[in-house]
Parts: sequence; C-alpha cells; structure tokens
Amino acid sequence: MTTIVRATVAHTPRDPFVEEDALEAYEDGALAYEHGRIVAVGDFTGVRSAFPDAQVRDERGAVLLPGFVDCHVHYPQIAVIGAMGLELLDWLRTRTLPEEARLADVEYARATAGEFVRALARNGTTTALVFGAHFPGAQEVLFEQAAGSGLRIASGLVVSDRNLLPELHTTPQAAYEQSKALIERWHGRGRLRYAVTPRFSVSCSEAMLEVCGGLQDEFDGLLFTSHLNENRSEIDFVAELFPWARDYLATYERYGLVHERCVLAHDVHPTDDELRRLGAARAGVAHCPSSNAFLGSGVFPMRRHLDHRVHFALGTDVGAGTGLSMFKEGLMAYHMQMAWPEGRRLGPAEILYLATAAGARALGLGRDIGDLSPGRSADFVLVRPRPESTLAAVLDRSPSVEATLGALFTLAREDAIAEVRIEGEVVA
Ligand SMILES: [Zn+2]
Repeated sequence: MTTIVRATVAHTPRDPFVEEDALEAYEDGALAYEHGRIVAVGDFTGVRSAFPDAQVRDERGAVLLPGFVDCHVHYPQIAVIGAMGLELLDWLRTRTLPEEARLADVEYARATAGEFVRALARNGTTTALVFGAHFPGAQEVLFEQAAGSGLRIASGLVVSDRNLLPELHTTPQAAYEQSKALIERWHGRGRLRYAVTPRFSVSCSEAMLEVCGGLQDEFDGLLFTSHLNENRSEIDFVAELFPWARDYLATYERYGLVHERCVLAHDVHPTDDELRRLGAARAGVAHCPSSNAFLGSGVFPMRRHLDHRVHFALGTDVGAGTGLSMFKEGLMAYHMQMAWPEGRRLGPAEILYLATAAGARALGLGRDIGDLSPGRSADFVLVRPRPESTLAAVLDRSPSVEATLGALFTLAREDAIAEVRIEGEVVA
C-alpha cells in the first residue's frame, strides 16, 4: 500500500554549501512512501499521477520536512537546562556533574531517559547521537527507552577516570568490561548503535583513551564521540595534562579515535592544523551554537571549517544548549554567524541541511536518511502552525517555500510539530 502525504515539502538532497539550488521545495507538494521507504517526492499532481491507487492524506497547510538529526545532546542533562551565569568548567563542577551523579540511581535514570527520548521525538528529532551516562545501569535504561521509542539513537557509556567528581570516575578495566557488555547487547539492535564516549581528554587518562581505541578495534561499526576545543580554559587544561600533545586533537588521534565515524562537539577554537587533520580524516564536528553562546565559549569558525572541508552538522548540546528544538538551534547558528564580522551568512537551505542531511552524513547514515529522495527511509516531520499563532500569520503571507522555511526556523518550536514518523510509522 502506497501512502501519499500532500503538504508543502522541502529538503536538501545536495549540499547547499557546495552546490547552487540545493533546496528542493514544492508549495503544493507530496511525499509517497510504501513499506517505510520513500518512492516519490515532488509536486502533488505529478506524484498523484504516478501512484493513482495510493491513499492520499491531505495535509495542506502543513510543511513536511525530513526528520531532524541532532548530532550532540546529553541525556542526563535535561534537568540543568537554563543554569545561567557560568562558563564550561564551573558549569560542569557546580551544576552539571552533580546532576549526572544522580543517575547512579537507576530508577531516576529510567525516568530521565524516558522524558528525554519523548522530548526528542516531540521536537521532530528522529535521529540523534546521544552523550550517555557514566553508570552502566543508566546507560542500559537509555538504550531500553530508545528501543521502545523507535528513534534512531547512537549512544554509549561515558567513561572518565580523573578531574570530575569521584563518583563519576571508573577504571580503564571497568570501563572496558562495562562498555563491551553494552556493545554486545545493544550495538546494531534495531535502530540503535553504540558510540565510544570518553567525556573529554580533561577527564581521561591515557590508559582510558587507549581502552576507547581498543574497543573500536574490537567491534565493527562503532561511532566515536567526545568534545573538542570548546573553551580556552579547557584547552589549556588539556595542554597541561598531555604535555607531549601538539594540540587537543592530537590527544584523540594518538589512540586512533579520529576517523570517518567520529563526531567531535564544538571545535570553537581550532588551530588551522587541527582543521586540516580533521578534514583529512573525514571526521565530523557537531556545531552547537546555543551552547556556545550560553556558556560564553565563543563563535564557531564556520568559514574556516568550510575552507578546510571539515564536515559539520548541528547539535543542541542540551543541557548547555537551551532546548531540544532543531529549529531553535538553526536560528542560533544563523544569529551567531550574522552577529560576528567573520561569520558565514546562512540561508534557509543551509540551515535545513545542517539540521538534517549534514547530520545524517556525520553519523554515517547519509544513504538512508537526511533527505526525502526516493529510496530513503520515510523519516519525516509534519509542521503545522497552531491557529492564530504568530507563525500562522507569517506563513499565511509567505511568498515562497524558502521564506516559509526561514519563518519555521525563526518561529516554529515543539508546539508546531504535528507528527513525526520513522519508516512511515508514527513516533510522536
Ligand atoms: Zn556536550
């Protein structure tokens, strides 16, 4: 059975930072899918005539977009969203690490994980690379809740053995054994994958980073994620801890952690040489503009990443980020670049790409999701403005789909997400 959804449709099947006309948009558009796979996208009349027997859902007035991909978000940090007035290391010490320590209680962790995955789905995020918890029990319940939700989640036990709170520390041996057990149970199960996750070099001994590299060698297809060059004090601390390292990136490189399935969050203060090496390794960067502004970390040097062909995509970085909305995150990326003399001006197509297809590519899922091309999985979001909202008033007068997209990123939030589907099935 083929289903056609009639709505305004927009997606970016090509990279708008490289190609002109990368945005494909249809005012009176349609998406057709069967058995969870997209079979056609385009103008409604064309799609309808290609599939005359299809069941048609008339969703005119709504906008259909690919499901969002959040490349960096911390599940244990929902409760610390909005902890104002602190830079990274103080924010971690006073607010965030004490909250993360509460996840030693598995029931507390289960409730947090449930709220987290539901909130992701309600925001239209169908795929996420999720920074996990420091406790194997808390990581287990995140995978359980993720499996139950149907979302595409990659995540892993966060491992650290220094410079956090003692209760968040483990040993390299325990980290290895607990990670291995979680990988064997969850990696490749349904839509779940495992990501090897040292918190950051500040909190890891060389033996711990070596364990991370060993896990990657032992198991196929694992992702790797951590933090990089977020804050000047953090970078100075890494330099003290790893006197042999020429820069922050080198602390991961030495253990074979920088590669195509690697996503490093932030990279606000990279050297040119780090950018060159990230580009050569085809590693990904999660750009988290809300968090960068909230913690006063700085402005993401987007032009320099583009110049060095470093692939990047958006992440909300909750709880330093200000919520799970990828619309809001796209707006923050726009604001930060506009407000900075060296910024790269973004348009709606580029922002949509960073919130969808770029993330899919960063997570190694570019063949399956991220845009609405035939053959891709039917992962999509229907956005419908609430009656009499400001967004409704703007969309009523929108002169083009591109203008509609600009208004969505500016005004649409959780309450405008009407429906979220993965492989054609409702998840929110
Ligand atoms: Zn983070």
